[in-house]
Amino acid sequence: MPRPIRARLDWSALRHNHGVARRHAGKANIWSVVKADAYGHGLLPAARALMGATDGFALVELEGAMALRDAGINQPILLLEGFYQAEELPLFADLALVPAIHSMWQVDALVEARLPVRLPVYLKLNTGMNRLGFNPDEFATALARLDAADCVASLSLMTHFADADEERGIAEQLTAFRAVADGRRLPICVANSAALLRFEYSTGDWVRPGIMLYGSSPYPSVQSAAELDLRPVMTLESELIAVRELKAGDRIGYGGSFTAEEPMRIGIVACGYADGYPRHAPTGTPVLVAGRLTRTLGRVSMDKLCVDLSDLLPSVDVGAPVVLWGEGNPADDVATAAGTVAYELFCALAPRVPVIEVN
Ligand SMILES: *Cc1c(COP(=O)(O)O)cnc(C)c1O
Repeated sequence: MPRPIRARLDWSALRHNHGVARRHAGKANIWSVVKADAYGHGLLPAARALMGATDGFALVELEGAMALRDAGINQPILLLEGFYQAEELPLFADLALVPAIHSMWQVDALVEARLPVRLPVYLKLNTGMNRLGFNPDEFATALARLDAADCVASLSLMTHFADADEERGIAEQLTAFRAVADGRRLPICVANSAALLRFEYSTGDWVRPGIMLYGSSPYPSVQSAAELDLRPVMTLESELIAVRELKAGDRIGYGGSFTAEEPMRIGIVACGYADGYPRHAPTGTPVLVAGRLTRTLGRVSMDKLCVDLSDLLPSVDVGAPVVLWGEGNPADDVATAAGTVAYELFCALAPRVPVIEVN
């Protein structure tokens, strides 16, 4: 028998969440963001589940874009970091990929490229995140050079928000973007999940939701996924493989970071950090055992973690089902307890965990 851990992926939830994005997007088109192997969910099955519903796919990996084309996906594909070397441009032309151009060296490469077809291009503006994109003072130069380039079919303008999920919001960055974009009559694309859900005036012509498609809230401390009508796509589940009784004073796991204050019953779950469960999740991280929410105890090990069975029925024994995150135990709650975000939990799902696809 295989080890009882598995990740259950519910593609109907992915399509449902895309429908939520569609409602918020209004007339805007949707780039479904599928970078990082569709946030750990599997690029091809996720893309297949969405291809009938979405308008395009956005990612950062050229190999991923090739895999989408090989799988017969003909929709537009946006490469959010563009190309990394000029040598990739013929492949962009061949596969009709849309590069996001963020640096002058990329403009140079495009101007000099001899491509058999013209490419639609996204021009990225830096409005305050200070990672990628042209500053407003360089922007006009980049735009003019691309406008004159032989191999550019169309131009769209994009920027990325640093605080769409935070108190600061997007007003300042959107103002900086508008100062440059308004009056140019070019399509615009600015909203990630948080901006799409929180600031509907930011939708523009295309939106770029990622995390919401996978059923997590982009700002879980303010609104839960359920409140946003989002459903978990990934459920990481396992089983109790042992149950034991502790005496007062017994310690649990490496370093004995948890000590029983009174006699208690604990369960051992076949799931550890080598499965992608965060090692830094502290005692008290929520875990669903036999349909009841309880807590983890002590340190997470490579293959195992321990859970508190004190408040559960004595019938909860070896073989009882455990949900590490997903249905009944939101990934956002686990992530918050572990001091991270659901994005990181999903992306960390380890290759050794078997995947079961439903719907
Ligand atoms: C990852 C990414 C997104 C999607 O962000 P979410 O917070 O997952 O919605 C949108 N735009 C860019 C440029 C990205 O890199």
